[in-house]
Amino acid sequence: MKDCIFCKIIAGEIPSRKIYEDDLVYAFMDIGPINYGHTLVIPKEHHTSSATIPEATAGRMFRVGARIGVALKRALDADAFNLHLADGTCAGQVVMHAHLHVVPRGADDNFHWNWRQLKYESDAAADETAEKIRKALKLETQD
Ligand code: 5GP
Ligand code: ZN
Repeated sequence: MKDCIFCKIIAGEIPSRKIYEDDLVYAFMDIGPINYGHTLVIPKEHHTSSATIPEATAGRMFRVGARIGVALKRALDADAFNLHLADGTCAGQVVMHAHLHVVPRGADDNFHWNWRQLKYESDAAADETAEKIRKALKLETQD
């Protein structure tokens, strides 16, 4: 897609530090890493949202992301890794070509997700929320 920096990276028009490539996905080092080695896995086909990525490609992204996570542990002595995907601006997506972050983690890396745990007002409120989600969920097998 014209004007997409990640499409330009795949096409070689913008340089990147490639970690892995196959027929469906491309992985490269993030230019502003949370920790050194932070890598991005992207579909070769342009998709703004993770929700439109065909199943085979989405599966490959997850598999490659997890394999890179293991490689980060081996290569950089990381203790663990996070897989993270921001879908939409409010979720923190800045580059509008879907991408999976693979972030190496260390026991003393001093990075904390700002995670909170709300409580549902009641079981009924939780049940109602679950029912809304189930009704809205239209899973389609795409390939
Ligand atoms: P988002 O916030 O959209 O989930 O993440 C976008 C990521 O892309 C950021 O972590 C940012 O550092 C990375 N990024 C943005 N532009 C470039 C670039 O030109 N090259 C590389 N390698 N990474 C980029
Ligand atoms: Zn793109």
